[in-house]
Amino acid sequence: MDDLFLRAAELGAAYRRSLNERPVRAAAGEEELRKLFGVELGREGTPAARVIEELAEAAAHGLVSSAGPRYFGFVVGGSLPSATAADMLAAAWDQNAFNATLSPAAIAAEEAAGGWLKELLGLPGTASVGFVTGGQAANTVGLAAGRHHVLAAAGWDVETRGLIGAPPIKVVAGEERHATVDRSLRLLGLGTESLRAVRADANGAIDVAELRRVLDEETDGPLIVCLQAGNVNTGACDDMRTVCELVHARGGWVHVDGAFGLWAAASPAIRHLVDGVELADSWGCDGHKWLNVPYDSGFAFCAHPVTHASAVSYVAPYLTGSGVVHRAADFTLESSRRARGFAVWAALRELGRDGVAELVERCCRLARQFAEQLRAAGFEIANDVVLNQVLVSFGDDASTERVIAAVQDDGTCWMGPTTWRGRRLMRISVSNATTTEADITRSAEAIIRLAHPPLPPRRS
Ligand SMILES: *Cc1c(COP(=O)(O)O)cnc(C)c1O
Repeated sequence: MDDLFLRAAELGAAYRRSLNERPVRAAAGEEELRKLFGVELGREGTPAARVIEELAEAAAHGLVSSAGPRYFGFVVGGSLPSATAADMLAAAWDQNAFNATLSPAAIAAEEAAGGWLKELLGLPGTASVGFVTGGQAANTVGLAAGRHHVLAAAGWDVETRGLIGAPPIKVVAGEERHATVDRSLRLLGLGTESLRAVRADANGAIDVAELRRVLDEETDGPLIVCLQAGNVNTGACDDMRTVCELVHARGGWVHVDGAFGLWAAASPAIRHLVDGVELADSWGCDGHKWLNVPYDSGFAFCAHPVTHASAVSYVAPYLTGSGVVHRAADFTLESSRRARGFAVWAALRELGRDGVAELVERCCRLARQFAEQLRAAGFEIANDVVLNQVLVSFGDDASTERVIAAVQDDGTCWMGPTTWRGRRLMRISVSNATTTEADITRSAEAIIRLAHPPLPPRRS
């Protein structure tokens, strides 16, 4: 195995070295890749070393440089050297992070990293932490805990009685919430009709006056309010403190979807954006976005560990002590799972407290630089750049689409389209730890060149 593992590491390292110069988009299209991978399986196996060479060769045509410094699509982040190497070890060690019997090391790493995360994000030290697959799972877990809590308060045990005949739950969230919140509600049996969407302000944060009016109407019955730290288009954060106070006075539960925006709490310079976030009841956050940890890495935090476990834990006869002391597996949706704590532990150690704050602040500064360079070239910045997200217009929808397609094809950088307030816009997310000022300038220059094609040479 030595040669095989060393070869895999060598291939990985060579790829990472190439990231700064290779085109950001994939070289081949879906059809070509389908052919490359869709070989005959055959009855007989293939030597491991050959499998890995063939895999690397085929994949090379279809890799997107989303780990590199000029990928600004979606909100993806990259992966720090230590976290990537730690994940390679996690795969080699093949630990099951289900509990400390299966892997004391995996659980100890999660406990340590979970403690650091709470400290960095300004969450209560007593909160429970589940290492889940990502923001979607974290939202599902947090909302499940909320569902348990608000129904228990109404005298209904949802875990034994289910939802049929239960008092209806009202869920309130901003109209610019992430779409995964709706999927979580569907999976939790609450249905999207239980959701009341509250108007958002110009930058996408919940309109608190409007929320007050909604709460004045929804005066009784189980209530869950889902707030957002970091809108995927604009980066806007809801007013945590005011809303938590309002909702708690009304006996409701507050969940915060902070997939990437919760990291604002780790920076003294922008912590004010999520002021009061510690007052919420549950929080979802990602490691694989802004912390630059490999996929899949998310965190479900809950201020009420017993409620958290009541919502998602399970017991089995082969689990001695289960249900008595709450452990890692009581806070996630998975039973067997990868030891996600190693990569998070490594990333936080590599950065240190100051490094995390610096990473968050640098991305925000680079996002502002991007906005300034494009604005100076005459293009409209369509959002208030409060965090790491920038929206750009190149005229009407068709012109903007045309520029985005040209930029993607050019390969210097990559960003995708979005629809914001009825308009098609270019969406830029700066969330990679390796992005520099020079990368922003190089990307902005490419965009400006492609958006202002030079006039054809004049015939004399
Ligand atoms: C990305 C994102 C999610 C979903 O998180 P995944 O890690 O992709 O599951 C949820 N909410 C917000 C605000 C996000 O940005």
